[in-house]
Amino acid sequence: MRCLLLLLLLCCAPVRAELQAQAVPGGVARLELGPAVEPRPQLWLGEQPLAVVARQGRWQALVGIPLDTPAGSLTLRQGPSPAQGMPLVLEVRPKAYPAQHLRLKNKGQVELSPENEARVAREHEEIRQLKQHWRDTPYVDTDFALPADGRVSGHFGVRRFFNGQPRAPHSGMDLAAPRGAPVRAAAGGKVLAVADYFFNGRSVFVDHGQGLISLYCHLDSITVRPGQWLEKGEPVGSVGSTGRSTGPHLHWTVVLNGTNVDPALFVQP
Ligand SMILES: [Zn+2]
Repeated sequence: MRCLLLLLLLCCAPVRAELQAQAVPGGVARLELGPAVEPRPQLWLGEQPLAVVARQGRWQALVGIPLDTPAGSLTLRQGPSPAQGMPLVLEVRPKAYPAQHLRLKNKGQVELSPENEARVAREHEEIRQLKQHWRDTPYVDTDFALPADGRVSGHFGVRRFFNGQPRAPHSGMDLAAPRGAPVRAAAGGKVLAVADYFFNGRSVFVDHGQGLISLYCHLDSITVRPGQWLEKGEPVGSVGSTGRSTGPHLHWTVVLNGTNVDPALFVQP
């Protein structure tokens, strides 16, 4: 009877999704650091602190690998500051992302006016700084839920060309959903910022701790305020087509140590 109960408990226990670690550009590498005894080790990639979590009694660094990282050795630092850190080398494997060619008839959609160029540059800097935000937390939840119901209509990392001109690779995952459909926090966290950007439209940043941040873009409405705490699955707004968007969908970006990583790695297949 006791065995049956244990079996039932095991079967019914919620299965925690495992982050699918991949040491590739745009991926997340797990780096083993030894037994999980305090204090927690501090690691750096450039000037950016890295998330360090305890897993099965051992410390592990989670390293977001920038999409433009060449295959080969990537040097991290372990210590109280990047300058005083001991080097640690991570081997990055190559990954080829698909290319997508789009033809746009309206040239104005490809070439920006000087005013828009200036606005985009300002917003680019603001977004870069928000993505580098660090909030120390003892624990980081990497078990994400899809933030909207809908099929994946755009994958992370796709190399895009508009009328033959290369554009930035796709920085997140697109989910096809009708205007007004709810958008929910992928995991628990604190609202870092809400904004309205030229390209991303109405956007919400959610800080999950230790440099793990999710960003929800092109929203029709926003129902949260900066500083607000959210549980996993709590609404942040609704699907829309604000900013540079061809139709209602959710663009979802996941950021780790200041760099965009593939959101698909954080959700169960
Ligand atoms: Zn997108």
